[in-house]
Formats: sequence, C-alpha cells, structure tokens
Amino acid sequence: MKDSFGREINYLRVSVTERCNLSCVYCGKTDCDKKENELTADEIVSIADAFVRCGVTKIRLTGGEPLVRSDICSIAARLRGLPGLGTLALTTNGVYLRQYAADLKAAGVDSVNISLDSTDGSTYRKLTGADVLHRVLEGIDEARRVGLSPIKINAVLMRGVNEDSAASLIDLAREQEIDVRFIELMPFSDAGEDASRVVTNDELRKRFSFLRPLGVRDGTTELYTADGFRGRVGFISPISHRFCHACNRMRLLSDGRVKLCLGDETTVDLRPLVGKREELLRAVRSCIRNKPAGHRFGEQAQPHGLNRTGG
Ligand code: SAM
Repeated sequence: MKDSFGREINYLRVSVTERCNLSCVYCGKTDCDKKENELTADEIVSIADAFVRCGVTKIRLTGGEPLVRSDICSIAARLRGLPGLGTLALTTNGVYLRQYAADLKAAGVDSVNISLDSTDGSTYRKLTGADVLHRVLEGIDEARRVGLSPIKINAVLMRGVNEDSAASLIDLAREQEIDVRFIELMPFSDAGEDASRVVTNDELRKRFSFLRPLGVRDGTTELYTADGFRGRVGFISPISHRFCHACNRMRLLSDGRVKLCLGDETTVDLRPLVGKREELLRAVRSCIRNKPAGHRFGEQAQPHGLNRTGG
C-alpha cells in the first residue's frame, strides 16, 4: 500500500524486545530491561499479519537484541507462515548467533545483518562493554555454514573511538563474500548527539578512494567494490544524504506501538486492537497513510536510543 506521499510501504521492522546483552556507547542507556511490556509471540504475529495484508512483503526481526528472546525461532517460524511474506530477515549483534543460526535457518529466516564496529578486541570491548568479539566472529562463520544469505555486517564509526577500525572492516569484504556497510552515527543517546563524533560516509569514500561505486543501491545502501574484493562495501548515510523520499518502512516497537518514521516521535499503539481484525487492519492502513514526509533529526530530540526504538 502507498502512503500519502506515494511511497510504497512494504517493509516492517519488528522489535521483539528492548533488552540487550551489550551496552554499545552510541545506542542508549540500558534502562530498558522490562520484559513484562513485551508483546507476546501471538500479538507480534497478529500485528505483523495485518501489515502483510496491507502489502508488507519484508519483515526484519530486531531489538534490543532479538536473540535474547527465547521464543525467537518460534516467532520467526510463525511469521514465515504468513501468506504473502517474501523476505524474513534478522538483525543481531551476533553474540548468540553460533547457537541460534541453524534453528533460525530452519525456522525460515533468510538473511542476517550483524552489527560489528571493530575487529580489534579491545576497541570492541570499549564500544560494547563486553569481551565477546570471538563469539561474534564464530557467529558469522556459523551463519554462513548454515546458509543464511546474504550476510551483511553493519558498522557505526565514531570519531576518536573506532574510526581506525574502518580499514580492517573493509578488509572483511575483501576476503569474504559479505557486504560491510557503514551507517553514519545518528543522534540517539548522548554519544550520538555529539555531532563532532560523526564520521561521514563522504569522508570514508575519500579516505578509501580505491573503492569504486557499483552504480547500484540496495535499499538505502550505496554499494562499492574494488579489485580483488569478494564482497562489497556499502554506505548508509541518513545524516549527510537524506533518503526519506525513498523510505519504504514502518517499525513495530516491542510494546505494540508503531513508529511511523525512525526520526519522528509519533507512535500509534496497536496492542489494544489485537484480536479485533477489522479495526487492526484499519489502524494499520491509517499508520501507513500518516507516515511523515521525512525524519526530524536535528529539529526534534530523540529521547531514546535505538535499543528502544528498534534498530
Ligand atoms: N542488537 C541488534 C544489533 O546489534 O544489531 C539489533 C538492534 S541495534 C539497535 C541495530 C543497529 O542499530 C546496529 O547496527 C547499531 O549499530 C545501530 N545503531 C544503534 N545506535 C545507533 C546510532 N546512534 N547511530 C547509528 N546506528 C546506530
């Protein structure tokens, strides 16, 4: 279904929890460990079903950290069963991926995005608060082994913290058939609101000038490659190059509210409508129709980190 600006809204990101096993510096405070407000699996499936009936063909499970939910594979399997759903994807920090990869694949998850901001153990620990880089790397290997595809690495660089990690992250795309994507730091949390910390993608393209554009986009990502690379390098630039005109997504938060735009605080609570099929469908249509024209980063404070918003 199209929104009032003519954009086809066909992508739903579903945050299954606010809880996370890491405390990344740019992501917000870990004051969001309230399991009791989380939608049940039944509620998630019924709201997602309404979105799929309204034209959503791709769902991404996210959070918080989706793999801290013990029923994540059964949620995935039930979403997979929704008629009309094409792609089922998951975004994870990868810490529990080694244990879950095979079950996620069996449940019908197609692809995974893994957040990895450094391949250096001590920088990784500084960024996330945990000494678990080796587990993330094992998780990536296991995801590949079980056939989750494509595998994409998402990295956020912060000036003075991990900007030096860019070269070794790019090397992952040289050595492996994966996309390594740089996401510009967005103004969530105290660290994210410090504009001097933002490393723009233009700056990276200048620094790694051997990368050449492929002339294709993957959604919001501009793709690049270089001689001898098995994978690709992507740039996602919400700050330096707005892409709201091409936005196709909505976000279901873990408590049942729908966020119409990542950079706008408007939400609509769908939880009370679960079990009232027609009302739920009407509300979903109205959410899609009312999606704002664009984000309001810089104009409107973002009171919560992405762990709460559903990254
Ligand atoms: N726990 C999962 C993970 O780590 O992938 C899913 C949720 S996490 C909030 C999703 C993504 O949001 C991560 O790739 C993270 O790097 C990104 N993110 C969090 N805060 C951000 C910020 N202030 N600016 C840009 N990206 C951010």
